[in-house]
Amino acid sequence: MDWPQLETKYYMPVFERMPLTIVKGKGVYVWDDEGRRYLDFVAGIAVNSLGHCHPQVVKAVTRQVKMLIHTSNLFYTVPQLQLGELLVNNSSMEKVFFCNSGAEAVEGAVKLARRYGHIKLGGAYEVITAMGSFHGRTLAMVAATGQPKFQKPYEPLPSGFVNVIYDDIRAITVATTEKTCAVLLEPIQGEGGVNIPHHDYLLQVRKWCDEKGILLILDEVQTGVGRCGSLFAYEQYGIEPDIVVLAKGLAGGVPIGAILSSLKASVFDRGEHGTTFGGNPLATSVGYATLKYIIDSNIPSHAKAMGMMLMDGLAKLKDEFGFITEIRGKGLLIAVEFSANIAKEIALMCLKNGLIVNNLKPNLIRLIPPLIVQPEHIEKALHILRLALKRESVNLS
Ligand SMILES: *Cc1c(COP(=O)(O)O)cnc(C)c1O
Repeated sequence: MDWPQLETKYYMPVFERMPLTIVKGKGVYVWDDEGRRYLDFVAGIAVNSLGHCHPQVVKAVTRQVKMLIHTSNLFYTVPQLQLGELLVNNSSMEKVFFCNSGAEAVEGAVKLARRYGHIKLGGAYEVITAMGSFHGRTLAMVAATGQPKFQKPYEPLPSGFVNVIYDDIRAITVATTEKTCAVLLEPIQGEGGVNIPHHDYLLQVRKWCDEKGILLILDEVQTGVGRCGSLFAYEQYGIEPDIVVLAKGLAGGVPIGAILSSLKASVFDRGEHGTTFGGNPLATSVGYATLKYIIDSNIPSHAKAMGMMLMDGLAKLKDEFGFITEIRGKGLLIAVEFSANIAKEIALMCLKNGLIVNNLKPNLIRLIPPLIVQPEHIEKALHILRLALKRESVNLS
C-alpha cells in the first residue's frame, strides 16, 4: 500500500511528514510497514515518555477499556480523582482540571488567569507571553505563541496577549500594565528550538509577578513529567508557579491535558469551565499508571543521567564536526544546532540508518527519546548520528 499517496489524496496537507509509515512500537523502537526497525529519539514529540507500548500503559489501557471508558463529567469517576491526588501530592499545586491536549490545557489556564483578573485585579485580562514560545494551535493559543509563522495566516488574532522577548526580565516589566493578569512562559522553549533561559530568569519573573500581584503560568506541556530530569522543570529553578500546565508525556501516549493550580489561583466556579471528554476514565487511568511508574521508578533522575550521557557524547561530536555550533538541553530535551541548514538532510540520513530524530528547524535537530532509554540506546544513537554527520550510510539490520 502506498500510504504517502493516500495521505496526499485524503489528508489536509498541513504536516511535513518524514518518509516513514510506522505500524508498531515496543520500548524505544518502532517498526515501519516493511518490517524495518528504528531507534525512536522523537517519542511522539515527548509523548511516549515510557516508550512504546510500555507494559504498565498497556495494562492500564486494557484493564480500563473493559471496565469503563467514558461517562462525562456529570458524574464522579475514580481514575480522575486518583490522578488528581497523585499530581497534587507530587507538586506544589492544590487543584487540578483535566482536558485532552496541550493547547486546550494552556488555553484553560489563560481562562483561569482571566477569571482571576476579573475577580482580584479589577478586570485585568492581558497575558504576557514570550517570542519563540509555543502554546498550541487554537486561535487564542496562536495569539499566545510568539512566532509570526503561526500567527500571520490567521490574523486578526484574539486580543489580550502581548509577546515579549524571552529570557529578558526587563521586557516583561516594561510590558506589564494595570491590564496584565498573568505571565505565561515555558521553563525551556521546546518547539522554539530548546531555548534555555538564564538560570535566574524564572526567579526574577516570579518576584516580579509577586510584586505586581499577577499570576505566573508555566507551560510544562513539553518540559514536565520528568522530561528535563525532574518531575516538573520548575523544581530546578527554585520557584513555584501559580498555575502549571501538563499534557504530552502525562499518559504514555493517550491524549490528555492537565491544568494544575495553587489554591490562590483556583478561582473557577461551577459552570465557568468544562469539557466532555476531558479527564475521562480511560485517559486518567492511563495517566495514573504512567505517572505512578515515573514517580515510583524515579524516572526523572534516570532521564537526568541519560541526558548527561547523551550531552557528553554530543559534545564529542561537536569537537569532531566544526559545523555543529551548539549542543544544549536539560534532561532528555536536547538540541543540536548547525551553522548551516542541514538538519533535514541529517535527519533523513539518520532515518536511513535506523534512527529517528526531529529536524525542528532548518539548522537544528531535537532529540527527545523515551525517558526509559538505556545507555546502549544512547551509544547506538550517537553512532548513527556520527555516521549521518559524516554523510555515511550503513545497512539496516
Ligand atoms: C506541544 C505543546 C503544546 C500544544 O500541545 P497540543 O497537545 O499539540 O495541543 C503547548 N505547549 C507546549 C510547550 C508544547 O510543547
